[in-house]
Amino acid sequence: MAGEPQDDCLFCKIVAGRIPATVVRETDTTVAFRDINPQAPTHVLVIPKAHHADAATLAAEDPELAADVLRETRAVAEAEHLDSYRLVFNTGSGAGQTVFHAHAHVLGGRGLQWPPG
Ligand code: AMP
Ligand code: ZN
Repeated sequence: MAGEPQDDCLFCKIVAGRIPATVVRETDTTVAFRDINPQAPTHVLVIPKAHHADAATLAAEDPELAADVLRETRAVAEAEHLDSYRLVFNTGSGAGQTVFHAHAHVLGGRGLQWPPG
């Protein structure tokens, strides 16, 4: 069923506390934690606690939860004192998605090139 935890999902394991993470914020529906391989001085991932494979699926299956994730990216940016930052939802392996549990990357703390690679 949509949103159910998946046994083989890394981020479901982080939500369940079965894999450690450096959590910076948590709400009833989301968790924000530091990326293990940061690409900027601030690199935080915001995930829904419920499992949805990617941002497109999340938006279609549970738009209110997608809004929670987006709202939480703002809270992370404020907590990290970022006035400029980039939100990235890699969607599909061709776009660099490697973990198939929807997540927003919040990247900041340095100048960011546009367009991205
Ligand atoms: P993506 O490539 O968009 O699917 O992003 C997945 C992100 O998860 C990458 O930036 C990884 O560095 C990050 N990542 C993988 N394993 C962990 C972990 N155990 N804790 C925190 N971040 C992780
Ligand atoms: Zn998951």
